[in-house]
Amino acid sequence: MTSHAQITDSFDVIIVGSGAGALSAAVFAADNGMSVLVVEKSDKYGGTSALSGGGIWIPNNDYFKVKGGDDSYEKSLTYLKASTNGRVAESKLRAYLDNASEMINYLEKHSRVRYAVAEKYPDYYPHLPGSLAGGRTLDPELYDTGELGEELDNLRAASPTTLLMGKIAWTARDAHKAIAKESGWRLMILWLMLRYKLDFRWRKKQNTKRDRRAALGSSLIASLRKSLMDRNIPLWLNTDFRDFIMDGDRVAGIKVVREGVEQVIKAKQGVIVGAGGFEQNQALREKYLPQPTKVEWSATPPGQNQGAALEAGQKLGAATDLLDWAWWAPTMRVPKEEKARGLFAERAFPGAVIVNALGKRFVNEADPYLEFGDAMYRDNEKTGGKSIPAWVVFDSHFRFNYAMGPLMPAQIMPDSRLPKAWHKTVYWKAETLDDLASQIGVDSEGLQDTVQRINGFAQTGEDKDFQRGGNVFDRYYGDQNVKPNPCLAPVKKGPFYAMRLDAGDIGTKGGLLTNAQAQVVREDGSAIDGLYAIGNSSASVMGTSYPGAGSTLGPAMTFGYIAVKDLTEKQKVS
Ligand code: FAD
Repeated sequence: MTSHAQITDSFDVIIVGSGAGALSAAVFAADNGMSVLVVEKSDKYGGTSALSGGGIWIPNNDYFKVKGGDDSYEKSLTYLKASTNGRVAESKLRAYLDNASEMINYLEKHSRVRYAVAEKYPDYYPHLPGSLAGGRTLDPELYDTGELGEELDNLRAASPTTLLMGKIAWTARDAHKAIAKESGWRLMILWLMLRYKLDFRWRKKQNTKRDRRAALGSSLIASLRKSLMDRNIPLWLNTDFRDFIMDGDRVAGIKVVREGVEQVIKAKQGVIVGAGGFEQNQALREKYLPQPTKVEWSATPPGQNQGAALEAGQKLGAATDLLDWAWWAPTMRVPKEEKARGLFAERAFPGAVIVNALGKRFVNEADPYLEFGDAMYRDNEKTGGKSIPAWVVFDSHFRFNYAMGPLMPAQIMPDSRLPKAWHKTVYWKAETLDDLASQIGVDSEGLQDTVQRINGFAQTGEDKDFQRGGNVFDRYYGDQNVKPNPCLAPVKKGPFYAMRLDAGDIGTKGGLLTNAQAQVVREDGSAIDGLYAIGNSSASVMGTSYPGAGSTLGPAMTFGYIAVKDLTEKQKVS
């Protein structure tokens, strides 16, 4: 052993971090007879996973098949290969396909985790072979957090942006119904509000405004946490992983600072790091990510994922990959909110146009968020720094009918009810496009030309420049009542509005390179004995792509499952 700190505890497996992958791995390890410890740096468990949508992309899953859906291993492999475009070893893609469905079936049967299929949520690349128009993304069912008892206090709070009116839990399927204004959406909202109201006794007892039901990522993490409690798996909060300890070439434990005290914990069989990426570390962002880049643009919890696993792994000679990539998403800052908000769906709503400082469009606004963020960087380079920030511009018709970031539709939240501090920090407003352009520093002629051009496209329904609304994914977030193209409407009725978009992220994508068993490998491909990496601590199995909603959590949980399988096999052999 190379440490001076005292060995205070010993477990079969130590899991670093408490996101969805880490907690799932803890369940799998315990069920395979291993003693497990989970260590979490923060005073809350759940990480970014807890405030996420909780969606998992599980190709060839049984939930869809039970409902008569048509998917297959071969079709999924074709799509994954086309999406990742040679960037990821086929053995890893196959490992994912071999285990993803098995993993979620296991949790559904043996834990508190419950999912349903989002049958209408299309894969993100409908033009690629093997893509499906829905059925591969699974969406968490609501979870009754009353079951957590006092542990509810330690759950990282869901982002208000994911809740109806900032407090009422709803599934992603419900949210989509409302966004797309599908028939029955008003009645559904009334029912959700009524259900919340009727539960006033529970909220009074808990002294909270929070819905008893958790949704999305909060449901996933709460149900996993309860599954750990069912198994008496310890989860240590305020325990900061600092380094690995070695026994020869084998990772034999970790060094942590727990409640301010340095401690060494021994892992008899292995360590699984699920400690997130490095998006909260400005120095590492500057070292690896394209520029400009800022911690403040990330939509992940501040101060947590700072690359500790990456740096400790690099010291052991681990190979890395994809360090110049993040799970890009355009974000915006709102005063008093601790982190940036991602702009996921609103870009596809009809009547919002996104421009650079030249007043020019540079991408299909409705593109998946990863591609949108990537396009910001590419256009920024091409134009010599004109696309970061970019600006989303819309008119009063849009403002009345649709949400944009924190601005609820004006029919619910008119400008007079918006916080004063938001004017010229969150949104800019002017009677004319010319005035708006000068307020935000965008070329006025460029903007007016662009608006005129897109207004023409709105009439014909065909976006001749970027094909917005031209595929099933774009249209998923369009307004089905707008014809001929649910993603296109004219921008013509003042006052006009603009909001600033930064080149943000929902986590980094690169990290320690792993093999098909989730083992961390060296440059020569040999595995580092006893060390596994999952989630954003590892280089993504999706390469530089984002095949469908749930492409970060699905793999995080699945490679947690695979890591435990490998540990179990090794245990049998030794
Ligand atoms: P995390 O969930 O962030 O967990 C890492 C944990 O490790 C944290 O709790 C952190 O505190 C802890 N940690 C860090 N350093 C240390 C240390 N030194 N010692 C101990 N603990 C440490 N992805 C999807 O697949 N589907 C979605 O629906 C989805 N929706 C999203 C919505 C939003 C608004 C956002 C922001 C993200 C969304 N994502 C989604 C992305 C997804 O949430 C993240 O990519 C994912 O949570 C990463 O999982 P992780 O386990 O790697 O990291």
